[in-house]
Amino acid sequence: MDRTRIKKVLAEGEPGTVVNVRGWVRTRRDSKQGFSFIELNDGSCFGGLQIVIDAEVPGYGDIKDVTTGASISVTGELKESPGKGQRVELQAQEMKLLGTADPDTYPLQKKRHSFEFLREIAHLRPRTNTFGAIARVRNAASAAVHEFFQQREFLYIQTPVITTSDCEGAGQLFTVTTLNLERIAQIQTEIDYAQDFFGKHAALTVSGQLEAEIFATSLGDCYTFGPTFRAENSNTTRHLAEFWMIEPEMPFYELEENMTLAEEFIRHVIRAVLERCPDDMEFFNERIDKTVLETLRNITENEFVRLPYTEAVDILQKCGQEFEYPVEWGTDLQSEHERFLTEQHFKQPVILHDYPRTIKPFYMRCNEDGKTVRAMDVLVPRVGEIIGGSQREERLDVLEGRMKECGLEPADYWWYTDLRRFGTVPHSGFGLGFERLIQLITGMQNIRDCIPFPRVPKSAEF
Ligand code: ATP
Ligand code: MN
Repeated sequence: MDRTRIKKVLAEGEPGTVVNVRGWVRTRRDSKQGFSFIELNDGSCFGGLQIVIDAEVPGYGDIKDVTTGASISVTGELKESPGKGQRVELQAQEMKLLGTADPDTYPLQKKRHSFEFLREIAHLRPRTNTFGAIARVRNAASAAVHEFFQQREFLYIQTPVITTSDCEGAGQLFTVTTLNLERIAQIQTEIDYAQDFFGKHAALTVSGQLEAEIFATSLGDCYTFGPTFRAENSNTTRHLAEFWMIEPEMPFYELEENMTLAEEFIRHVIRAVLERCPDDMEFFNERIDKTVLETLRNITENEFVRLPYTEAVDILQKCGQEFEYPVEWGTDLQSEHERFLTEQHFKQPVILHDYPRTIKPFYMRCNEDGKTVRAMDVLVPRVGEIIGGSQREERLDVLEGRMKECGLEPADYWWYTDLRRFGTVPHSGFGLGFERLIQLITGMQNIRDCIPFPRVPKSAEF
């Protein structure tokens, strides 16, 4: 008999029909009258299927080994359930024990485990309610990302994972090499990357933006959705060494249109997840963060505040709040400042724009004031910065001037400057960190719990 996923059984299984389900046991209770209740979960949905199995059912002889974590296959007839909270239950006709899970050593017992502990058993944590729900939300959100851009005729572009142009911070790069570093360390003091696989220093990408600009200025609106790597040694709840980034890039867009797209994008993904994962979202709101649904509703129903950086500095200086880091025009805002603006001052998402050029990368478009660039950061409650973007500098002379100002050699970016030499156009784009979006949607405190296998300083197990 074909197996049926439990989600389908719970949603549309008709009493009287016979089905086969397979999955992992959450709990088992034995009654004194000689039958047992099993709650089975197969990951297809939040809830489990209640199974009633009588002592004379074939396979019941193994019931003592049907413990939490064991895998079983059960065929039976669906019955209307007398219990509340579930429409149907399964009256078993046959049970097969597929794999046991020794209760003395299986780490996931019924009690609640800390997220820190679960990170150490990341191979088993998808079997918990929380991590099953996160995986389903990530899935729904990924699909919604593609859907949003595909509906708008954006091209999905795959940009390289290995690059030789270090977009922003050289300090954050993971070097990619085939050189024998141990041998080199013994015989010479410097590494000659000309001898390396690519003939020069190569690294894992920190952003696909520069390559996305190539396609945007050839083919029109496009986007990337891929892994990104930053060797930043910051042990925060919002940074990973490997994360997924979505980077749309649009020719003929000025900064305002870029902001509007960013807003619509975040709203679309949130709405899609709320619609497709209602049980998972209910769980996050009850057990992880009691304000998460309200926060998301606030985001989907209200326009984001748009505020120049200069005005934000003014607000922060006059608000009377004590910050760990002082605020001064010309310095980068810290997470505490960003969160104050979005959580306490405006109580909704804020798009800060027109930042001092000294704290932003070379490719952002310079304003006439000579001091600021057309940058935008989208700040959301609990997470802080979720998007960083800008209108790009399309004027060749200004771009080359900015590169030199940033200590970069324009010749190293010859293909990037060519885009300004031949048919240059105004264009804009942004980057959204996918795990920060998952943090926002689920209410999870730590970004390490928003990706299946987190990579952070001193940890890349699994
Ligand atoms: P932050 O100031 O928070 O470190 P950033 O300004 O360095 O971020 P950008 O270069 O603007 O980040 O990258 C675009 C987006 O990618 C950010 O808005 C954020 O959502 C996400 N992001 C950046 N760094 C990380 C990281 N280490 N882990 C997870 N997401 C990240
Ligand atoms: Mn940023």
